[in-house]
Amino acid sequence: MDRGVRGVTILGSTGSIGVNTLDVLTRHPDRYRILALTANTQVERLFEQCRRFLPQKAVMLDMNAAVRLKEKIQNAGLSVEVLSGSDGLNSVATHPRADIVVAAIVGAAGLLPTLSAVRTGKRVLLANKEPLVMSGRLFMDEARASGAELLPVDSEHNAIFQCMPAGYSAGIAPAGVRRIFLTCSGGPFRTATAEALVSVTPEQACAHPNWVMGRKISVDSATLMNKGLELIEACWLFGMTPDQIEIVIHPQSVIHSLVEYVDGSVLAQLGNPDMRTPIAHALAWPERIESGVKSLNLFELARLDFESPDLGRFPCLRLAYEAARVGGTAPAILNAANEAAVQAFLDRRIGFTDIPRVIEHALARVPANPDARLETVLSDDVRAREAAGGFISGQATRVGQGVT
Ligand code: NAD
Ligand code: MG
Repeated sequence: MDRGVRGVTILGSTGSIGVNTLDVLTRHPDRYRILALTANTQVERLFEQCRRFLPQKAVMLDMNAAVRLKEKIQNAGLSVEVLSGSDGLNSVATHPRADIVVAAIVGAAGLLPTLSAVRTGKRVLLANKEPLVMSGRLFMDEARASGAELLPVDSEHNAIFQCMPAGYSAGIAPAGVRRIFLTCSGGPFRTATAEALVSVTPEQACAHPNWVMGRKISVDSATLMNKGLELIEACWLFGMTPDQIEIVIHPQSVIHSLVEYVDGSVLAQLGNPDMRTPIAHALAWPERIESGVKSLNLFELARLDFESPDLGRFPCLRLAYEAARVGGTAPAILNAANEAAVQAFLDRRIGFTDIPRVIEHALARVPANPDARLETVLSDDVRAREAAGGFISGQATRVGQGVT
């Protein structure tokens, strides 16, 4: 392989971030070569990606799906090695020819392979925010120890990274920075009344005004839990306290976040809402490459609006602030209960406004452990899912009986 060409593994290549990453990579065949693509159960999609992008390896988490993928790959005469399970994910996340690992799995499922990539000293493009929320200290410590480059792909964190002073190092509060403004579109229910929120459907929750994303993050954007998770993510990535981060509703999603310095300067990063910008930035950093994103037209845009968030209608944001302040395993408990609640909402077992109730219940039931090492994080994740599951079953019965 040409020494200048960098090998890339995409964990979660069939998802929204995965597909956007492939779009950017294929614009630069002289710079990047796809080492491995991975997915959970989507055989057809991963097969199509193998045919189109010819990775050396393809991993399906699901064993049966891997068998089916292997058969299709053999029949098509492709030379792609098929692996399976979490061992398969770990092996492509740590492979010596993977210079860059794109963490684009959704939820806690991405924790272990992403951590493996960090421990092996890779450049890790972090879209999958849940692992950082669960075990931020561990990620930052391991990255420092291995020399891994942890580059944020979440658009807000990528924007903050771009506004940080030269020489800034991950996880350490940079001198001269006073606070961060984390922008938030407000989601599809920004102007909905509290009464209207009670009966919204998964379809309405997933119809985001500015971004097309996977279903879990779409629901998180609708409850504003996405911003809550991002608050915790920003604390770890930039060495900030929750009180140094202000959430600002900005419906146009053009300013992706801002950094305020002690001299009163405020730096912002702007651009059309398109994930290919942060992906291209993190792939090539400190260089800049074409991403396919169209130029921002300020005249068409005409105005930018800002509002403060309503914690009454969106209690998930309040719960995230509280968990961030408690620390330890509280963010992992918050995250696990949220994953369970969002899935139950998508499955129509609970209503939209039950989501924060499930999370509040789990946070009250499972005491946070101040020691957030991997084992305690993983065990509190399980306990929080159990607590959430119990509450959801009770709720689902009420919904079934037409009580709620
Ligand atoms: P998605 O649902 O579209 O894709 C998820 C990917 O992960 C798929 O490839 C799927 O096969 C794989 N996957 C799912 N469960 C898995 C499991 N248990 N084990 C292994 N692989 C599994 O999600 P997305 O919208 O691309 O989001 C991915 C991550 O990036 C999330 O953490 C999200 O919060 C974050 N993020 C997404 C966006 C966006 O615009 N979509 C923006 C910022 C951050
Ligand atoms: Mg974001």
